[in-house]
Amino acid sequence: MDNFITGHADNIAHLAGNARYRFIQHDVTNFMYVEGALDGVLHFASPASPIDYLELPIQTLKVGSLGTHKALGLAKSKGARFLLASTSEVYGDPQVHPQPESYWGHVNPVGPRGVYDEAKRFAEALTMAYHRYHGVQTRIVRIFNTYGPRMRARDGRVVSNFIVQALKGEPLTLYGTGGQTRSFCYVDDLIDGIHRLFLSDRADPTNIGNPNEFTVRQLAERVIALTGSSSPIVEKPLPEDDPKVRRPDITTARAVLGWDPKVQLEEGLQRTIAHFRTAIAR
Ligand code: UDP
Repeated sequence: MDNFITGHADNIAHLAGNARYRFIQHDVTNFMYVEGALDGVLHFASPASPIDYLELPIQTLKVGSLGTHKALGLAKSKGARFLLASTSEVYGDPQVHPQPESYWGHVNPVGPRGVYDEAKRFAEALTMAYHRYHGVQTRIVRIFNTYGPRMRARDGRVVSNFIVQALKGEPLTLYGTGGQTRSFCYVDDLIDGIHRLFLSDRADPTNIGNPNEFTVRQLAERVIALTGSSSPIVEKPLPEDDPKVRRPDITTARAVLGWDPKVQLEEGLQRTIAHFRTAIAR
């Protein structure tokens, strides 16, 4: 299910004609009806790029709250297992580094990013309540910065922005001085981690992300080198409440799921650059 508020039908075009696949265009903040039995409900619906959730603040709050409620209700009625896509944003601008699942976070609830952070924090609380009160089998993945093929060219997040800018010969827009850090996870690793978590019996939140940490300036330099671009780097204002550091503590995922990321930044960037070269040429 998707209402395509930020997604696109092109991303699922290759699944058309697959007898085991069915797509329903629907906004999950509204009641959902699905016929027949369900084994699992995996709730990923939400704008997730900062520029999207700043532009769609009410929809972001609604999908994290009402959408999670509807998705949990569906799982409960079908006796299905439920998985919530949560986020490293629940840690806000963290004062504990790296971030273990036990850290409660440092979030500005009324700042511009609060619409996403608080919606996801509410979604986690609601998921735990359905688990404890209704006995629904629930899983919560806290996703750290993920990138890879099929991101939108104008997604607004840093990896896609830098790659597209480098390939077009435009300046790379570094917000602030670029000294802030992120730890980038390649999409295939994320999916493997989520799959393992879904099949596990762990109800508590679980970080999935690559713990290799880079400054945003280092990322810009890597992208320029790997694309062979002559684009300059220009500094732009740092968005409000932009976290200064971010790196997952993945001790739990390693111990409980036997999971470890396999694709490091260089290789992941190369695969993503290849995708954007074709996408831009089209
Ligand atoms: N960023 C940047 N240039 C861009 C886009 C983002 O320097 O064109 C920075 C942003 O300020 C943040 C980091 O890159 O410090 C990651 O931003 P992104 O939007 O990818 O996601 P976030 O981790 O902030 O949720």
